[in-house]
Amino acid sequence: MDEERKVSWRDRYPAEVTCVRCLDVFDQMLLDRLLWCESCRAKARNRATWWGWAGGFGFGAVVAAYVWLVIRPSDLVIGGWIATMVAAVWIGSKVAREFVYGAMRFRNARAVEAVPPVQADPGDAASDDDAP
Ligand SMILES: [Zn+2]
Repeated sequence: MDEERKVSWRDRYPAEVTCVRCLDVFDQMLLDRLLWCESCRAKARNRATWWGWAGGFGFGAVVAAYVWLVIRPSDLVIGGWIATMVAAVWIGSKVAREFVYGAMRFRNARAVEAVPPVQADPGDAASDDDAP
């Protein structure tokens, strides 16, 4: 009888894996599917949150400009518009954060502060040159 073993993506990797982002070596159980370690995910989340707020305030500014220049609110309803603006910033920041985080995950690049290890690259580029 073969043992019923759950095949997972982790089987493709050795026990110790290099995080693709900080280039430190971790036990593979600590990395996720994209080979990001826990602290890199936390840092990326954190960075995405900051960019998210920047995006949210940018979006809020656009909404504010639109309200101010196009809708021209009276003093009577200005509180309602401010509430709308706050909501716009809030929602915009959440959307932007997810967008930024998704983009970082998609690019899957190493962090700017990561130090790449020196690696000898076995050359496989010279094999196509002898075609007629
Ligand atoms: Zn890492």
